[in-house]
Amino acid sequence: MRMILIGPPGAGKGTQAPKIKEKYRCCHLATGDMLRAQVAAKTELGRQAKKIMDEGKLVSDEIMVNMIQNELNNNQECKGGFILDGFPRTVPQAEKLDQMLTAQQKPLKHAIELQIPDELLVARITGRLVHPASGRSYHKIFNPPKQSMTDDLTGEPLIQRSDDNEVTLKKRLGTYHEQTGPVTEYYRKTGIWTKVDAAKEPGQVWKSLLGIIE
Ligand code: ADP
Ligand code: ADP
Ligand code: ADP
Repeated sequence: MRMILIGPPGAGKGTQAPKIKEKYRCCHLATGDMLRAQVAAKTELGRQAKKIMDEGKLVSDEIMVNMIQNELNNNQECKGGFILDGFPRTVPQAEKLDQMLTAQQKPLKHAIELQIPDELLVARITGRLVHPASGRSYHKIFNPPKQSMTDDLTGEPLIQRSDDNEVTLKKRLGTYHEQTGPVTEYYRKTGIWTKVDAAKEPGQVWKSLLGIIE
């Protein structure tokens, strides 16, 4: 499997990607999770990234392309293919990814857009709870953990992301439409683009995804 999932914050990328990873035994690279790991480790990159993320803006293309290139080449799990979640977010990132994969004769098979109206994202984002170490997400109402604020698998605490508030979400949605909208246009011109109705129940979205990738 070699695919990307594109969609606004809260579309369900992080909910669906692990299921694809499990089924196809490939790696799941979520650039937001990688950046948050840098923030948690208090690296210089993490310090710079935190400010940008909390403003709802994008980290530079150069940093993000290097991060993905490094993982794709060195992460053993990626030998069986990959699913990218949150990358590419700009046209230059998409072009760089294409160049990289073409050089390795491993072109993308699918670019799937999770489409959902902005109005539905406020409830999804303000109710999201995450387990930082794994990237697993829950929802206060739509998908509550078995025990309040606790990860079902590890028993570790769940957190709310500092950028998962209504004000920052508005900025992130602006950034998405402005900078990532053109990425969907970029892939629409290729034969690998498809869309999925991401407003549906998670099980329905999963069925739509399977219909495309199987
Ligand atoms: P993304 O990775 O695209 O930002 P997530 O997968 O983290 O989105 O989902 C955002 C929030 O919405 C999470 O709290 C998740 O549990 C919830 N969620 C995901 N998919 C659905 C869905 N189809 N219907 C309702 N809530 C959903
Ligand atoms: P969401 O799950 O809500 O779509 P992510 O976890 O993917 O959000 O990303 C969180 C933040 O990390 C983004 O708002 C952005 O600041 C930064 N980020 C993640 N991926 C990229 C990328 N490919 N390019 C630039 N910035 C990124
Ligand atoms: P399946 O298709 O295997 O029955 P589900 O649709 O029940 O899977 O769940 C898919 C993923 O979405 C799981 O990670 C689950 O925790 C999460 N999830 C389940 N129901 C919801 C929901 N209503 N809103 C958000 N996330 C959900």
